[in-house]
Amino acid sequence: MNHTLDSFRSYLKEMNYYSRACTLLSWDMYTATPKLGFQGMADALTFFSTKHFTLSTSDELLSMLEALSVPEEYDQLDEGMKYTVRTMLRDLRKMRRVPKDFFEAFIAEQSLSMQAWEEAKRTSDYSLFAPHLEKLIEMTRQQCAYTDPDRECYDVLLDKYEEGMDSESIDRVFTELRDGLLPLLKKILAHPLPESRIYQGTYDADAQKKVQELLLGYIGFSFEAGTTAESEHPFTSGFSRYDVRVTNHYYEHDPISAMFSAIHEGGHAIFEQNVDPALEGTAADDCCYMGIHESQSRFFENILGRRKSFWVPVYSRIQELLPDLKDIPLDEFVQEINHVRNSFIRTQADEVTYCLHIILRYEMEQEIFRNHASVDSLPALWNEKMQKYLNLTPENDSEGILQDMHWSDASFGYFPSYLLGNIYDGMFLEAMEKDLGPIDPLLESGQIHLCREWLNEKIHKYGCLRLPREVIANVCGQELSAAPLLRYFTDKYTKICGLE
Ligand SMILES: [Zn+2]
Repeated sequence: MNHTLDSFRSYLKEMNYYSRACTLLSWDMYTATPKLGFQGMADALTFFSTKHFTLSTSDELLSMLEALSVPEEYDQLDEGMKYTVRTMLRDLRKMRRVPKDFFEAFIAEQSLSMQAWEEAKRTSDYSLFAPHLEKLIEMTRQQCAYTDPDRECYDVLLDKYEEGMDSESIDRVFTELRDGLLPLLKKILAHPLPESRIYQGTYDADAQKKVQELLLGYIGFSFEAGTTAESEHPFTSGFSRYDVRVTNHYYEHDPISAMFSAIHEGGHAIFEQNVDPALEGTAADDCCYMGIHESQSRFFENILGRRKSFWVPVYSRIQELLPDLKDIPLDEFVQEINHVRNSFIRTQADEVTYCLHIILRYEMEQEIFRNHASVDSLPALWNEKMQKYLNLTPENDSEGILQDMHWSDASFGYFPSYLLGNIYDGMFLEAMEKDLGPIDPLLESGQIHLCREWLNEKIHKYGCLRLPREVIANVCGQELSAAPLLRYFTDKYTKICGLE
């Protein structure tokens, strides 16, 4: 037993080195690689991913996992190792059904497709991306047919990002949310807020970087176990709890975008930096459930970050760093960060209409994978849904179907996890206030660490030991429901917009 466990631990280490190489290459591709160097990095990434794939599907690994999964061995493992053996054996059996040539071709196509999407988005020419999208959809179906021949493809995809959340549960909560949200949104939009003067100012990128550092430190990001860089789209990249990196993007006339990206990505990073150290080196040491992960970034970004009380301890310091905010009183700033408007771009949407952007994408993915909608029909279908939910029709595909990168690397099934994150947050907020009392006085008196520690204790430390459903049951003591999020929206906007 000890011998197998030791060999298994060294094997995991070796796999970890390959996956670090992959993470580092993609980090570099998005933050530093020049245009002409991209292909070289993409080739190297394919090489290291293939190595990692080979290790994760080898006969040697299979026999170690089988040896460790017999009851008398398995029962002696610690929790992190039990999780590792169980999930790796399951995934290995699935992945061994995927031919190596197919896997390599799929990774290579994702790189090509990403480049095609960038060009298509830049020139707003969907026809450049369409053939790649078609290929990726076909290959995704093929991959599902290899790994899970008995299950419906879209359910397999949803499971990949949020294990155990099937389309039946998602349909139920998304419908509950949509039906409550549309009438509320109508009321909110009938009481428009004044346009803010914030965007008339000019905000130096270096000063915005300092604001990002201030905000990251304020919410509890550890700079000893993390660093920052710039990229076109903000993201978080984790190597281990000791090295979690976040990126940001700065806009000259919009300081709010980078502030909220800092808080959002910081929320992801804080999660990873606070996983129980005992889980290090196991497969449970970061959170692989995207909805739960998103719930943490969004808890900081929306539930905490859009309250006046969050800004009270830091706003004057931000005004010092960004002099053009000096004329903007805190109340005006807070009004603007809660300004609800129908808009085209998901990543710029407010927290209310954001939900509809995701419901639209969920429905699009269902059209693709369940109803076999043709790739050519997708832009018109997108625009139809934009009109239905947000009363807008995009002028071109860049601000329509081409806006997100997710489909360019075959991350189908990922979008719903964003909205699940929001729905979980409504539930977490109620649970947190039950334990800590109202959070506004805590935030206002500079005790944001109490909220963070609550999240550390209830959610972060477990990594991915608990399935999303188990997290909800343990933290909230009830079934998944959109009702708390709807209550949060209704209470908040009744006050902000003076609704009856
Ligand atoms: Zn996120």
